[in-house]
Amino acid sequence: MHDLAQQMDLKGERKKFQQALGKWYAGAQRPLPWRTKPSLYRTVVSELMAQQTQIKTMLPYFERWMERFPDFDALAEAPPDDVLKHWEGLGYYSRARNLHKLAKEYVAADPKPTNRHEWMAMPGIGPYTSAAIASINFGESVAVVDGNVVRILARLTNDTRTFKSNGDAVKGFSLLAEEMVSSANPGDHNQAMMELGATVCLKRKPLCTICPVQSFCAGYAREDIEELPRIARKATEQIEIQRAWVLQDDSILLQRIAQDAGQLAGQYELPVLNLIATKPPEKPIITKTRSITHRRIKEHIYAIKPSSTHRRNLSENPSLHWVDLGKLEAITLSGPHRRWVKELIRQAG
Ligand code: SF4
Repeated sequence: MHDLAQQMDLKGERKKFQQALGKWYAGAQRPLPWRTKPSLYRTVVSELMAQQTQIKTMLPYFERWMERFPDFDALAEAPPDDVLKHWEGLGYYSRARNLHKLAKEYVAADPKPTNRHEWMAMPGIGPYTSAAIASINFGESVAVVDGNVVRILARLTNDTRTFKSNGDAVKGFSLLAEEMVSSANPGDHNQAMMELGATVCLKRKPLCTICPVQSFCAGYAREDIEELPRIARKATEQIEIQRAWVLQDDSILLQRIAQDAGQLAGQYELPVLNLIATKPPEKPIITKTRSITHRRIKEHIYAIKPSSTHRRNLSENPSLHWVDLGKLEAITLSGPHRRWVKELIRQAG
């Protein structure tokens, strides 16, 4: 048994920790739509949407999603383009495709999955999400362990080890998290831990003075508490991409990513330059930089004016499509590209 859990057990404090956390959560939790109107479907959608997306960013998407796809059946029957369109702007589109597959499998399943093990076999569901679903919707006594939970546990135990990666840290704290979970109310316990990490035990400037579990926290006295947990940083990878801006007669040339591509399948982007021109013009009209996890991507966008022959050749490439500017809202453009296209159209007008 882990030190902290053992110490708390010996002093009978583990129950007190669970009670302090539970009492705080009952009064302090944010009224999020999957809590005020809970259901299995809403847990599944919210958990998948919340991966890699902040809660305040995903809220309007969640509401829109629920209006269009209110349950597993509605989602299972929806066309793939409609599903992607409702995910547009959230990024990491494999989550939307997995959610769509999951809905189809769930509707067809007989019997339905009801425990962590069975949920792990569903598309897009890993250890974290399966534990969340099993504890919140089926009362199974399993712990969710994500970055928030790792941070709280590292600080509670004043653990100064350096982990190689986030995944390593999750593994390192899983046993302790399992030992600390309340078997009487695992769903609320897990949500309370996530809420504590999201609103009190913050990465930067944790609000220790109002923390409901401060009296159990071995790291509380540290001045440099923000440094815990210690996780080695991955080196940043620099990537440069050249893209084409081809606008003619109120149509824009876009590239559609293949349906079987690993990322962004079925979505539109500004075309990569080498599909349009062999040599780039001297200067890009704009350069944009964005970061995705440890990658820093610089995209240089070049204006190209195709001749009529060139235009015919372009039309023969099945991945390139002329899209009427009035129809841009109806297609799924990757999030940053929609922003850039709007910006460049404004500049051109
Ligand atoms: Fe986190 Fe501070 Fe609470 Fe400890 S006392 S768990 S560091 S917020």
